[in-house]
Amino acid sequence: MTTKGYLDYQTGSPVDPRVVEAMLPYMTEQFGNAAVLHSAGDPAREALEAARGQVASSIGADAAEIVFTSGATEANNMAVKGVAMKLRKKGKHIVSTVIEHRSVITPLKYLVREGFEVTSVPVDADGFVDPKAVEAAIRDDTILVSVMMANGEVGTIEPVGQIGDVAKAKGVLFHTDVVAAQTWVPIDVSTLPFDLVTLSSNDVYGPKGVGALYIRKGARLEALIHGGGQERGLRSGSENIAGAVGFGKAAEIARAEMDADVARIKPLRDRLTDGILGTITDTTLNGPRDRRLPNNANIRIAYVEGESLLLALDMEGVQVSSGSACSAKTLEPSYVQLAMGIKHEEAHGSLQFTFGRWSTDEDVDLVLGVLPGIAERLRKMSALKPGMEYDKEKFGHHH
Ligand code: PMP
Repeated sequence: MTTKGYLDYQTGSPVDPRVVEAMLPYMTEQFGNAAVLHSAGDPAREALEAARGQVASSIGADAAEIVFTSGATEANNMAVKGVAMKLRKKGKHIVSTVIEHRSVITPLKYLVREGFEVTSVPVDADGFVDPKAVEAAIRDDTILVSVMMANGEVGTIEPVGQIGDVAKAKGVLFHTDVVAAQTWVPIDVSTLPFDLVTLSSNDVYGPKGVGALYIRKGARLEALIHGGGQERGLRSGSENIAGAVGFGKAAEIARAEMDADVARIKPLRDRLTDGILGTITDTTLNGPRDRRLPNNANIRIAYVEGESLLLALDMEGVQVSSGSACSAKTLEPSYVQLAMGIKHEEAHGSLQFTFGRWSTDEDVDLVLGVLPGIAERLRKMSALKPGMEYDKEKFGHHH
C-alpha cells in the first residue's frame, strides 16, 4: 500500500495489514452463516461475538451493548430515528447542533417532516458547542440530545462529557457520534455520560461498510431494519462476519496504540500547520489550536478556491479535502465553516488535511514544497482579490 502524499484520512483510511490478515479466513474457508444451527455456523458465531467483545472493550462497554451496523451512517440513523420512534408518545423534541455529520442532520430533517421538532444549537467562532446552550434548549418534551464528540472537518473536540451530564440531569438520552475522535481520544462509557455512541470501523483502520452503535443497558429504541431478527432484533440481516472481525481487530489495535499514534502524528500535523501559516501570506487556521484532534489541520488560504488548490495539489501527488467530505461534490462551502461565522468566499478557500497511522515527515515535506508555489500561481489567476466583495454570480453557483 502506498500512502505517500495522502493526507485525507478523515474521508478514507487504509486497512491495517494486521486487520486484513484477521479477516481473510472469514472470506475464504469460514463461510458459514452465524444464524444456522449446523456446525458450519460455529466459527462465524464465535468470531462475531469475539469481535463484539473487542469493539466493546475499546470503549469500556459490555459486549451486549454493541450492535453491528453497515457503518456510522446506519448507526446514526438507528440512534436518532430509533429513539424518536420509541419515545414519540413521550415527546417529539430533539436537541442537536449545526455541525453534526449529514448522517445525523438528514435523519433529523426527515423527522421534522414527520412532525418532530429539532433545536439546532449553534457553535462559536472556533466551532465549539456551549453546554449551557444545550441545557437551555432542553424542554419537557425533549427525548434526545445528539452532539458529536469531535468534528473531523475543523478538528474541534466538543465538551460532550458536560453536555451528557446536562442531558442526564434532565433525564434525556444522550447520543454522541465519536467517529472522528475514536482513534485519538480515549473513550470510556463506564465513566462518561453517553447512552448511545456511534462508532465506525474505517476510522480505526478497519474496513469500510462496518460500524456499530453502543446502546447503554436500559436505553430502548425501535429497530429500523426488520427481518430475521439478528443483532437482538435491532438490526436484521446476515451478519457481516469478516467486516465485524476486521472492525474488532482494528478497534483493539487502535486502543492499544493510541498514545503512540498521537505522539507521532501530532508533531507532523503541527509542522504542517506552522509551515503553511509561516510561509504563505493570508492563511488562517480554521477551528481551535487547543482541544483539537491531533491529526487535523484545516487552513483557509485567502483569494483562491479550495477546489483549485485541491486539484493542483493532486497533480503534485498530494490528496486532501477542500470542505466536508460529503459536500465535496456540490462545491458548496462547508456548512460547518459557515456556522462558525467564516465568510462564504473564505470558506471556499479552505483545505482540510487529515493525518493517520501511515503519515510521515515525507508527506509534510511534499506539501510544504509545492503549496506555496501553487497558492501564488492560483492567486495570480484568481478573480478574488484583497478587499473585493463576494460576488454570488461568480462564486455562488454549482460548478
Ligand atoms: N459520522 C462522522 C463524524 C463521519 O465523519 C462519517 C464519515 N466518515 C460518518 C458519520 C459516516 O460514516 P460512513 O460513511 O462510514 O457511514
